[in-house]
Amino acid sequence: MTKLKALILDMDGTITVPVINFRKIKDEIGVDCDRDLVDTIAELSPERQEQAWEVIHRYEAIAESQQKLQPGFEELFDYCRQADIKVGILTRNVQKSVNALCERFDITFDLTVTREFEKMKPHPAPLIHMLETWQVNPADALMVGDYIHDITCGKDAGTQTCFFQNPGYEDYSEAADHTATTMHELKEIVKNFKSK
Ligand SMILES: [Mg+2]
Repeated sequence: MTKLKALILDMDGTITVPVINFRKIKDEIGVDCDRDLVDTIAELSPERQEQAWEVIHRYEAIAESQQKLQPGFEELFDYCRQADIKVGILTRNVQKSVNALCERFDITFDLTVTREFEKMKPHPAPLIHMLETWQVNPADALMVGDYIHDITCGKDAGTQTCFFQNPGYEDYSEAADHTATTMHELKEIVKNFKSK
C-alpha cells in the first residue's frame, strides 16, 4: 500500500503533452534564454513588459486550444482516487487555462493553484499552501514537473520530487528524487512511494 498522501502536478508539459515552447517565447520577447522568464520580464520597461505578456498570452491561448493529456494520465488519476491520494495542480499558467483543461477532460482536482496566487514556483509558498490546506505533511507528498522550477519548489517545500521527462526536452533528472518518462512510470513511483 502506498504511503503517498498528496500528488501535486505541474500542468503544461506534465499533465498535458508539451505545446508551449518557452525558448521560442523568450526568443520572440528578446530575453536571455537561461533566466527565469517572469523575473526577466519584471526588469523590462513598462512598454516592453506589456508586449512580453502579450506574447505569453498568445502562446498560452495556443496551448489551451491544443490541450492533450499525457497518455495514461487518467489511469494514474483513477489510481490516486482509489488510494485516497489528494491530487492538485500547481502551475504558473492562469486559472482560466486550468478550468479549460478540467472541463475538456471532465476531471476534478482537489485543489488548483495558478499564477493568480501571491507567489509563483519556484517559490515554495504555493505548494506549502496546498499541503496546509490538505493538512498533509510535506514528507508524505510528491511534486511532479517537467521543469527545474517544479523540482526546486518541491525541494524547498520539503516534498519528494519527480522530474517528468518529455522526449527531446531538457533533462533535469539529476536535481530530482525520481524520474518518470511516462505516466505509467509515474504511477509505479506513486504506488511504491515511501516517506523519507
Ligand atoms: Mg511544465
